[in-house]
Amino acid sequence: MRFVGLFSCLFLLASSAAEEKPNIVLFLVDDMGWQDTSVPFSDEVTPFNKRYRTPNMERLAEDGVKFTNAYACSICSPTRISLMTGMNAARHRVTNWTLRKNASNDRKHPVLDFPEWNVNGLSPDPRIERTFHARALPDYLKVVGYETIHVGKAHFGAVGTPGEDPLNIGFSVNIAGHAAGGPGSFLGTQNFSAIWRDGDEIWDVPGLEKYHGKDIFLTEALTREGLASVDKAVKEEKPFFLYMSHYAVHVPFAEDSRFIERYKAMGLDEKEAMYAAMVEGMDKSLGDILDYLDENKLSENTIVMFMSDNGGLSAHGRGGEPHTHNRPLSSGKGSAHEGGVRVPMIVKWPGFAEAGGVSENPVIIEDFFPSILEMAGLGDSVIEADGRSIVPLLKGSPSASSGRPLFWHVPNNWGGRGPGIGPSSTILKNGWKLIYYHNPERVPRYELFNLEEDLGETENLADSNPEKRDALAKELAAYLESVEAQMPTIKATGELVELPR
Ligand code: CA
Repeated sequence: MRFVGLFSCLFLLASSAAEEKPNIVLFLVDDMGWQDTSVPFSDEVTPFNKRYRTPNMERLAEDGVKFTNAYACSICSPTRISLMTGMNAARHRVTNWTLRKNASNDRKHPVLDFPEWNVNGLSPDPRIERTFHARALPDYLKVVGYETIHVGKAHFGAVGTPGEDPLNIGFSVNIAGHAAGGPGSFLGTQNFSAIWRDGDEIWDVPGLEKYHGKDIFLTEALTREGLASVDKAVKEEKPFFLYMSHYAVHVPFAEDSRFIERYKAMGLDEKEAMYAAMVEGMDKSLGDILDYLDENKLSENTIVMFMSDNGGLSAHGRGGEPHTHNRPLSSGKGSAHEGGVRVPMIVKWPGFAEAGGVSENPVIIEDFFPSILEMAGLGDSVIEADGRSIVPLLKGSPSASSGRPLFWHVPNNWGGRGPGIGPSSTILKNGWKLIYYHNPERVPRYELFNLEEDLGETENLADSNPEKRDALAKELAAYLESVEAQMPTIKATGELVELPR
């Protein structure tokens, strides 16, 4: 109880502003693919929509707006830093996944060496080497009176740096978050530890000792603890920002006994059944939160945002064999193709966003930062971001993002195998997508897709439509230059990979 006087002052300030501020729930799922839900996000109901059971996502979509062209980065860390800072990955330079201090997780590449990217992640302290220094989203919210509750996977900064602890970037509560981007285990009976598979204790989920040895799934334990923290904030009459950041549905899989029998009975293989049960367990968590809001008469003043941090894992060579496919999209996690970056997104905002609405506007992960600031009443503040607020889209202004280009930049080797995986830069504009691969020996070097006619990215139009290719390449190069994007080096010559042209 240090700084008691300061706390009291802040509490008084917070109380006066509390009544008009909406509560905000940001429900982020890890590695959930676009099709891993019973909510259809494409034009038709697919076989995967029939496989998965997510009644609470359906409920959220009925009460909110479904975004059918929502994007994240293709892997965890770039997405999470963009989410917390509003910056594009090309600018923040956390372009691959983080874990150990000053250690790159790039897999070796036969042709390319990789740049000095920000391997230590996000830092609130500018003195920490190889970090992106920024003030993070929860810090802005905390200052205007929000209780800022972090639950689950953090993965913001490397071990031994300030960014590894959510309390250092503006969260007032941290439940189970640390440097690692996956859990040792999803099972309480295994103490959420990697010891059972002779894994490194770096993956052990911190702070849930009360559930050790108990028959409980991690998703459930996180939900109970998160709601207990929310309940405390409600009793103190503080608005809350609940960042419900599930470790699900990332590897390592485990059987969730509450849900798995349905999927075994459907004839799915063991891994597919475990995955589908974990998806349903994640959805149950969403339902528990929605129920809590209803029971406590908070639903009308609470915004609920649902998002995944990258596409479903369909690549070989990372986390074992694939268990999801993202079809009709091509490829999955780690890929510049749609399966890697197009994700399920729903936003419910009673009184503002149309219940049952559908938005086809392209939106991207860095948009959450300015959106949430605007929702919290900070829309008029001058806070720099690459993202754009989705609030006008929620209020029904479809023109707000027409003609907007989206960008991805991955000067790294994540390591999986599959279409669209490998060092690349990408632009998406008006339904046209150009991917520029950094490896000069790769054929083809460019891929151009018309997503409106070819969502599955089956036909590369780079040679047949050189005008479109050149126009997008020029715009992509100008963007990369404007943010001083890092490029890999060609081993044989020692020269930087040139920009697209
Ligand atoms: Ca992820």
